[in-house]
Amino acid sequence: MAELTNAYVIEHDTGHVMHSWSAQQKLAPLAFRTGHGATLIDYDGKEYLDLSSQLVNTNIGHQHPKVVAAITEQANELTTVAPAHANATRARAAELILDLAPEGFNKVFFTNGGADANENAIRMARLYTGRDKVISHYRSYHGNTGAAIVATGDWRRVPNEYSRGHLHVFGPHLYRTRFWAETETQETERALEHLEQTIIAEGASSIAAILLESVPGTAGVLVPPPGYLRGVREICDRHGIVLILDEVMAGFGRTGEWFAFSAHDVVPDLITFAKGVNSGYVPLGGVIVSAPIAAKFDDEVFPGGLTYSGHPLACAAAVATIEAMRDEGVVDNARRLGDEIIGPELRALAEELDVVGEVRGRGVFWAIELVSDAAARTPVSAEYMGAVKSALLDRGILPFTADNRIHVVPPCVIGDDELRRGLAAIAEVLRETPVS
Ligand code: PLP
Repeated sequence: MAELTNAYVIEHDTGHVMHSWSAQQKLAPLAFRTGHGATLIDYDGKEYLDLSSQLVNTNIGHQHPKVVAAITEQANELTTVAPAHANATRARAAELILDLAPEGFNKVFFTNGGADANENAIRMARLYTGRDKVISHYRSYHGNTGAAIVATGDWRRVPNEYSRGHLHVFGPHLYRTRFWAETETQETERALEHLEQTIIAEGASSIAAILLESVPGTAGVLVPPPGYLRGVREICDRHGIVLILDEVMAGFGRTGEWFAFSAHDVVPDLITFAKGVNSGYVPLGGVIVSAPIAAKFDDEVFPGGLTYSGHPLACAAAVATIEAMRDEGVVDNARRLGDEIIGPELRALAEELDVVGEVRGRGVFWAIELVSDAAARTPVSAEYMGAVKSALLDRGILPFTADNRIHVVPPCVIGDDELRRGLAAIAEVLRETPVS
């Protein structure tokens, strides 16, 4: 085989791999050979500091030795087993996940990732309530599936032929308020009023679930203001609606909590997870099910399933990840990094530079909102974002960018000095790049 260089790998990749969410012709992907902790190394030997955690999933960092060893050990014992069979690794993963959940949750339904976790949570909510519609937020992301079960030509389609009735409301986001609010309290009250009025107008008895990210991530790390999630919980209780909180990106340490909703004095009925549960070393997601909803399926068939549900390699990775995160204080470290380093440094940057419209976040989950006109809050141009991104890559920093934002989302295990170096590079690039 030819020696592996960036050029060789990129040529063979772009020639044969169809990439997500992209016009293929223009793609020039980075090529990575290996990594450790918060570092990735390309095929030419250049090191990058990973401030993206890939797609915000490598919470425990790259190549954690205990997780790699657990996957190897499981591969030597049994690489795969059907979901209908019992397996000790899968059972242990479910127990560990349930230990992290609030009281009152007693089952885990495993999936391959976050989208199918949400699909199955919605399915549970619809069957539990006998209702149809699902409300979620504009400014959210819940995954990329939808049509497969409705296309199915056997009995499994029939209890699932209701993939319709999705409604959206605006959640609170004071910086870009849709409620003409001037304070967080107004924003919260008005967002809750808007939600409840939508429910009433639609007919509360038609709404099965409200599905929200505990902290909307890709939409810009929109940490809910105090009282919002608790208010949503109260609305759900008033109208018999199931509350599903999507912890796919926000969960497993990202916000400095095992589950982001813990900081908001709220307990949902269903929790969806993926990414950080095993840092994506092997694809895994799932639904953590509260006892009343789980009990519904004690006697009734749960009409959902996946060939790889609870895959032993993925579950072995989850067991090792959760144990290592507990033993090594990874979640506390994420909280400390946010409180002591990222928060103060980004707030100082917002004071210094007009282009920084707002910074927000907690733990290792932050967004820098970039604007070309601070008063009008006009998002910077795509060209500006492109220039910032390539200047960071030149400096060996791998950023996560979305629209007019840089998301500062490193692994929870990043070293203090590495993190300071990454933040200094962002500051330098923002100072140097002409705003447009
Ligand atoms: N939910 C949230 C909050 C996400 O951020 C994502 C992915 O980014 C998903 C669901 C979908 O997860 P997956 O890509 O594993 O299907």
